[in-house]
Amino acid sequence: MNTFTHPEFSNHERVVFVTDAASGLKAIIAVHSSQLGPAIGGCRMWPYASALDALTDVLRLSRGMTYKNALAGIASGGGKSVIIGDPTRDKSASLMRAMGKAIHDLGGLYIAAEDSGTSPSDMALMTESTHYVAGLDHEWGSGDPSPSTALGVFLSLKKAVLQRFGQPTVNGLRVNVQGLGQVGFALAGLLVREGAEVCASDTNENTLLRAVDELSVTPLNHEEIFTNPCDIFAPCAMGGILNETTIPRLSTQIVAGAANNQLQNETDHLLLHERGILYCPDYLINAGGVIDVYHRRQGHNIDAVQCGVADIAERTQSILTDAHARQISPETVAAQHAETLLSQPAREKTRSAAA
Ligand code: NAD
Repeated sequence: MNTFTHPEFSNHERVVFVTDAASGLKAIIAVHSSQLGPAIGGCRMWPYASALDALTDVLRLSRGMTYKNALAGIASGGGKSVIIGDPTRDKSASLMRAMGKAIHDLGGLYIAAEDSGTSPSDMALMTESTHYVAGLDHEWGSGDPSPSTALGVFLSLKKAVLQRFGQPTVNGLRVNVQGLGQVGFALAGLLVREGAEVCASDTNENTLLRAVDELSVTPLNHEEIFTNPCDIFAPCAMGGILNETTIPRLSTQIVAGAANNQLQNETDHLLLHERGILYCPDYLINAGGVIDVYHRRQGHNIDAVQCGVADIAERTQSILTDAHARQISPETVAAQHAETLLSQPAREKTRSAAA
């Protein structure tokens, strides 16, 4: 199989394979679309089992960024990059600088930000080779966009709760959170503070124990996180976890989480819809991070970030309402909205998305 025949390839504008022998860098940068502006998206570092797995991930993730950024109303296209390697073992300053150089060679077509396995300090190392980097520490705090992502998911999840249960808060509801990393832990904290009962799993035992200790979450194993009866299931780890094997085992009313590409196959949202589970599309509700890094990079103030994150929830409510009225899956409606935005003449796009 080559890139053009890969099932996840959908006319990506640019796919670049990068190696740097001196630092050991092996990476792929994928720009799906720059129709709305330079492609912005995270740089993930992950110990992929094969280069093909890395290619699959970066092609899917970059396409998701095109939809995410279009719906978020920011003047940015969709792109993503992946570094093949274990961030706890293979990361080095020279590797990050080499990645920065590869990004610089694209001349601004792609702007990197942090993602799973990378941090604001890694972005700072990249700036030694390129200025096409976002998500840097700044005068009003950390460059980590995760708190904005968690807040956007939390506010959107509450819109789903309002529609499904008719209540404005998560008080008294049970939420299964899969993955307690930078976003999942922050989301669990927001849920607990509003009175939800949080059950959670994480492959990292220390992370799980910290959440038990600090947030009083109930620990679950990797099977129970799917089957434990709950009101909301919040996937906040890796993609592909909603599929024909896991969906029948879910005992929840709502799925709303931060993880990118939660659906293993494009049509898996229909399985959720058939089961009467309200699914909030990941690229719709997890846009807080990219909105955060976009506005900071533009030099906008904190108000722009906060308004942008609050808008995610309003957009979610409108899409859930539309889907309910038409008795179709919210994923179908969200994808239709994104396609409509992308098919408009260039100068109208970001204005309509922001409206
Ligand atoms: P992270 O790497 O900080 O956290 C991921 C956590 O999930 C880790 O604690 C890891 O141990 C755990 N994990 C991995 N596999 C697991 C599994 N099978 N079961 C349970 N736990 C597992 O990443 P993050 O920044 O919190 O991002 C989480 C997800 O949200 C990712 O899919 C990411 O792409 C997506 N996302 C993140 C942001 C952001 O601002 N950080 C923005 C949009 C989307």
